Amino acid sequence: MSDSEIELHTVVRPSWMTGTPECDWSEDSSHENGNYFNKCASCSYDFIGHKLRHVCRKCHYEAKAIYDAMTSEEQAEWDAKRVAEIRDYFKTNAESSHARNER
Ligand SMILES: [Zn+2]
Repeated sequence: MSDSEIELHTVVRPSWMTGTPECDWSEDSSHENGNYFNKCASCSYDFIGHKLRHVCRKCHYEAKAIYDAMTSEEQAEWDAKRVAEIRDYFKTNAESSHARNER
C-alpha cells in the first residue's frame, strides 16, 4: 500500500473531540458522508463516521460481543424486549401527538 492510499483512509480527529480513535468508524472514511462528527447515543463521546450512525464503533462492538455471547433463547428474549420498548416509544409519542392535536 502506498503512502497516498494510507492517507485516503486516515481519519483526522480534531483535538476538541472527546472519545478515542477506537470510537471512530474509520472504515466509513472513504464513503460519501463518511466523515461526519457525531456524538454516541450510548457513551456520549464524539466519534467520526457516516452521518447516519448514532453509536460509536467501540460501543457497537462491545454490545455485539455481549449479544453474540448469549444463547439463542437469551437473544430471542432480548429482541422481544427491544421490540416492546420500540412499540412503547411510538405508542407514547403517538398519544402525545394525538393530545396536542385535540387542543
Ligand atoms: Zn460510544
